[in-house]
Amino acid sequence: SYRKGGYHAVRIGDQFAGGRYIAQRKLGWGQFSTVWLAYDTSTSAYVALKIQKSAAQFVQAALHEIDVLASISDGVDVNSKCVVQLIDHFKHAGPNGQHLCMVIEFLGDSLLRLIKYNRYKGLPLNKVREICHCILIGLDYLHREHGIIHTDLKPENVLLISTIDPAKDPVKSEVSPILERPEGSINGGVTSLIEKKLKRRARRAVAKISGRTASIGGTEDQKSVRNLDGIDVRCKVVDFGNACWADKQFAEEIQTRQYRAPEVILQAGYSFSVDMWSFACIAFELATGDMLFTPKVGQGFSEDEDHLALMMELLGKMPRKVATAGAKSKDFFDRHGDLKRIRRLKFWPLSKLLVDRYKFSQSDAHEFSEFLLPLLDFVPEKRPTAQQCLQHPWLRGTESNEKNESSVENVGVGMSNLKIK
Ligand code: ATP
Ligand code: MG
Ligand code: MG
Repeated sequence: SYRKGGYHAVRIGDQFAGGRYIAQRKLGWGQFSTVWLAYDTSTSAYVALKIQKSAAQFVQAALHEIDVLASISDGVDVNSKCVVQLIDHFKHAGPNGQHLCMVIEFLGDSLLRLIKYNRYKGLPLNKVREICHCILIGLDYLHREHGIIHTDLKPENVLLISTIDPAKDPVKSEVSPILERPEGSINGGVTSLIEKKLKRRARRAVAKISGRTASIGGTEDQKSVRNLDGIDVRCKVVDFGNACWADKQFAEEIQTRQYRAPEVILQAGYSFSVDMWSFACIAFELATGDMLFTPKVGQGFSEDEDHLALMMELLGKMPRKVATAGAKSKDFFDRHGDLKRIRRLKFWPLSKLLVDRYKFSQSDAHEFSEFLLPLLDFVPEKRPTAQQCLQHPWLRGTESNEKNESSVENVGVGMSNLKIK
């Protein structure tokens, strides 16, 4: 993809926006861009630099993302709103074309990595609560103050607020380029100090990595989990490439499969409440380590049909009115509101699932399902708003922290197992 219209190749130490930003290391990449840790020489802070591919459709997509980000980054007290902030944007010309670049605040690992670090066993419920609280603040801000629907809420798109000093963070992948970086390509002053620091830790990292055999997994993971231990977990919603306004929508098919709301599958129109559905899926995944719905194509039925069947097995039969209201309803349901091609459903209610499969205590299971089930209402209008959800007693469960501790033991997991301090 590093060709005309594609990614821009970056070398550590490359300068952007007339020397204001200096690339430090790669943070990640996606279908549209590569994202770099960069040093902002004008504010002496680290930022994330998202460099978009250069072909016309990517430029278009970046303009849209900038549009959304700029509108939500505008206003007082945005930092407390749990959505990522746009700092700057500019064009950068390279051998592969003109790339739109977004400078966004530097954040930490995604919730997906957090779930992985915890070996897909689920986080302690008090951590789940804290994360849920943050996401809801973000959603409430987007929905109520901006009329924006995120439309792609999933663990990958919620990043923890980095408590790591990038200058001390162990170098993960781009080790050698730091050492290879040509001398003198960086303006002096503060940055040269940072550079020295980076070089030193790069050398340490090289030594560490080269002294180690094939298996890298375990120890790195445990370290990151330890980093979270005892920290107030805070996070921010990111990736506004697919966001839309409730009154200005662009696509009929939205959301990543597993987090997709029923009305989207049925093409019955959507609004803010699709984000609330995805939010409930995330909350479940944080608490159990498993995705709530993982539909698959089967013999004689599609992924969509399996998805609808899984929903009904967990939540009960879809009201006929809802089932038959979408443009695609006829593909899946008969006129009675029964699935045409999947006739026998095995009902397994949420609270029973939490107890049976995930070994929740009865009371934890009960309280958590009371929180989740209204969000998973088949009738979109009945789902609580983010604002209403923030009032839910489950989120204010700090007084029952003792119970949470015991539930962690019941689940037989929690980060306590991974403590290496
Ligand atoms: P997608 O295909 O998911 O739409 P994309 O090209 O739009 O990808 P992003 O998802 O925005 O790119 O970012 C790619 C990756 O870069 C993220 O998954 C994350 O690992 C990392 N990243 C993005 N933004 C930040 C940030 N602000 N701080 C730290 N890392 C980030
Ligand atoms: Mg993404
Ligand atoms: Mg994106």
